[in-house]
Amino acid sequence: MNKLTVKKNKSEIIYDSSVEDSKHISVKNKYDLFINGKWVKAKKYFKTINPSNEEVLSEVAFADKSDVNKAVSSAKNSFEKYWKKTKPTDRGKYLFRIARILQEKAREFSVIESLDGGKPIRESKSIDIPLAISHFFYYAGWADKLEYISRSSKPEPIGVAGQIIPWNFPLLMAAWKIAPAIACGNTVVIKSAETTPLTLYKLAEIIQEAEVPDGVVNIISGDGKTGSYIVDNPNINKIAFTGSTEVGKNIMKSIAGTDKKLTLELGGKAANIIFEDAPIDAAVEGIINGIYFNQGHVCCAGSRLLVQENIANLVIKKLKSRMNYLRVGNPLDKNTDIGAINSKSQLKKITELVESGIKEGANIYQPNCELPAKGYFFKPTFFSNVSQAHRIANEEIFGPVLSIITFRTPKEAIEKANNTCYGLSAGIWTSKGSKVFEVLKQLKAGVIWANTFNKFNPASPFGGFKESGFGREGGVHGLLPYLKN
Ligand code: NAP
Ligand code: MG
Repeated sequence: MNKLTVKKNKSEIIYDSSVEDSKHISVKNKYDLFINGKWVKAKKYFKTINPSNEEVLSEVAFADKSDVNKAVSSAKNSFEKYWKKTKPTDRGKYLFRIARILQEKAREFSVIESLDGGKPIRESKSIDIPLAISHFFYYAGWADKLEYISRSSKPEPIGVAGQIIPWNFPLLMAAWKIAPAIACGNTVVIKSAETTPLTLYKLAEIIQEAEVPDGVVNIISGDGKTGSYIVDNPNINKIAFTGSTEVGKNIMKSIAGTDKKLTLELGGKAANIIFEDAPIDAAVEGIINGIYFNQGHVCCAGSRLLVQENIANLVIKKLKSRMNYLRVGNPLDKNTDIGAINSKSQLKKITELVESGIKEGANIYQPNCELPAKGYFFKPTFFSNVSQAHRIANEEIFGPVLSIITFRTPKEAIEKANNTCYGLSAGIWTSKGSKVFEVLKQLKAGVIWANTFNKFNPASPFGGFKESGFGREGGVHGLLPYLKN
């Protein structure tokens, strides 16, 4: 039996592993493209691996330009012929069906999400999959109530939505995108990220089982080029993109001058602000959750810790001691807190940025834990003595790496928090409610948590300002970009 030891104050704590059973899952050796309700062969296939042991899980189709055109034509045809004419209550019924079938298969999806992406099973089981399900339920409920939120008494869908998602929350990002789009009467072509295609193809199986009319949801895989074919296709009416700011900017350029609608959910470098009057132990949990959740592969991660100077030493001491209990390792172990980094290239990017932090003079801390010999892993890390000019204070690391910056007054905290090209999220920790409101109205961030962090709900909108993008997903706001009026 695998045992993991955590050393603390010379005493030794020993944990047994508790690995989630993965025998019940069904993953095919090969996945074709899901177009017009059928599995369609591609010319090329590529492997998707388990980043925690580098073993191949399956092969998936690589969609080229002609495949993308096929998928878009299928979505267009389905939109014109059926979906825009389908009664809103029926659209709702299909969404309820998807949600319920997904609920029945939640355990299988959680395991596959952890295998393909490297995230701890604890998180895929309690966050990714339940939240994806709740998005389908939530938007199922809206399908026949759109006239209450639209300016028009006859709200109309836009047409075909091209949707492109990243690898950090594959099924959840798909739910964020597909559910509101089809609830409003649009049809979709969605592309998974290169390293995490599996749960989207499993969702395709559910879409078949739910008997959603052919072509309403088309699911494809490929690389960045595949994404660009979706963006450039003239029959696409709306692009919904979640990913990096760099690619987001390119997409904006590509569609300039067309009448395609666009929402962009991009990167972030959130400030998690801890004031001197904060409940410190709770705040330390909030710091951990803010940056080490999903290995820090989180666009809204609290990756910049702004801590009031007079409590900084205490917070750092408590943070170090809490980090000694974080368990890094097999994503399928129910006790794992930090799983595998999603890919070799992401591990390289994190390593390079951490090296820049060391070179630029910040102080690094990593707990004394062992990393598995195989797979892509990175120790939970923080830097203190970080200056505003350091790369690690400005660039999105997208890994389990925290940069700690101190401040003396609330004014300085607000200035430092806003000193970024991003504006996705922020956190405020204080025991004074009035301070929360005073500070939050001066922060330029789309989502702000008070005395908590990384909390999501299908009813609340999510999205950013500045280079974190525009448009909102979730809640009523998440429906509006999928309606003409
Ligand atoms: P990425 O490189 O921008 O990729 C995102 C998606 O776009 C992937 O499916 C990717 O395909 C595709 N893509 C790449 N180049 C493209 C192009 N030229 N045209 C069209 N599509 C293209 O981002 P990532 O590294 O996967 O994801 C991490 C980023 O996503 C981070 O910056 C993070 O902050 C952001 N993110 C934002 C949110 C939010 O809600 N704001 C949520 C999650 C993640 P391949 O996978 O095949 O390259
Ligand atoms: Mg994979």
